[in-house]
Amino acid sequence: MKAVRIHEFGGPEVLGYEDLPAPEPGAGEVLVKIAAAGVNFIDIYHRIGLYQQPLPMTLGVEGAGTVQAVGSGVTEFRPGDPVAFSGPSGADATYTVVPAAKLVPVPAGLDLSLAAAALLQGMTAHFLTHSTYPLKPGHTAFIHAAAGGVGLLLVQAAKKLGATVIGTTSTEEKAQLVREAGADHVILYTQTDFEAETKRLTGGQGVDVVYDSVGKTTFEKSLNVLRMRGMLVLFGQSSGKVPPIDPLTLNAKGSLFLTRPTVFHYTATREELLWRSSDIFNWLATGELKVRIDHQLPLAEAAEAHRLLESRQTAGKLLLIP
Ligand code: NDP
Repeated sequence: MKAVRIHEFGGPEVLGYEDLPAPEPGAGEVLVKIAAAGVNFIDIYHRIGLYQQPLPMTLGVEGAGTVQAVGSGVTEFRPGDPVAFSGPSGADATYTVVPAAKLVPVPAGLDLSLAAAALLQGMTAHFLTHSTYPLKPGHTAFIHAAAGGVGLLLVQAAKKLGATVIGTTSTEEKAQLVREAGADHVILYTQTDFEAETKRLTGGQGVDVVYDSVGKTTFEKSLNVLRMRGMLVLFGQSSGKVPPIDPLTLNAKGSLFLTRPTVFHYTATREELLWRSSDIFNWLATGELKVRIDHQLPLAEAAEAHRLLESRQTAGKLLLIP
């Protein structure tokens, strides 16, 4: 089988397209034939070593496909079942082995590419809006990189819960997609000072919550656009790592809350994983949630997918097809 592997950390050129023996499922594991693997910013963090994993490593933390075989003790899945997963690495391959506890069923009739495109980023939008800062009508949510893979889903999830949404993005083309996703206001943060504009839009009050995945270049102003006792949810660092901060800053800027969550801690139990994944798949099936697939590339072109994602050229999801 084929797999996208790294033997050292570095740029997209370290991604190798290699032949490996197909894995076999052990006890409690399931062998999945991958139909589509989702590309996520975490793949870049793995490749550059920001999140260090043992090497060599097969990349890809999200995929959907069909069960080929199950290991001993697996009762929930059978060969032929459509399934998806996010978390365990190894999705950028023809086959991968996934612990049954991390696998979720894909409803009959839902396209496997859509399932791969929506699972990780959809569950991220879900936990951010339902659990980290549960949104209600009357709340104003501020979303950075709103045209991104997570961003477009986050805007839709926030609107579904009745919040007013202010989104940021870099170009007018992307801004149009953010508006179509339902955002009330869009700020081109590459051209307009988003702090001044948000204060103007909120009559000086500030917003209830900022969902910030951009990190280094936005963090400080993200604190400044919050209302008193608002929450900054820092959930990524697409522009680079945020430097350490003094806790007194949170006091000085209005008794603010700061959290740095990950989807893996919000899908840690089987119950929570099935709750979030089934909500996402149901919303896709009913059309309540739309996922935009920006590029679909052959698995052999994983390096190109990484280049596109890190150079800000994409809006929505990137998929790799084995
Ligand atoms: P995106 O599709 O959002 O791509 C990143 C976007 O960030 C770019 O398109 C760009 O949008 C914006 N951006 C701003 N500055 C930069 C920069 N210097 N370099 C690159 N991009 C920049 O990616 P994903 O949807 O895969 O992920 C979004 C973020 O969410 C990532 O930081 C990721 O780590 C995080 N994440 C966190 C999770 C968690 O559990 N905590 C789970 C999933 C994702 P624009 O052109 O509009 O500025």
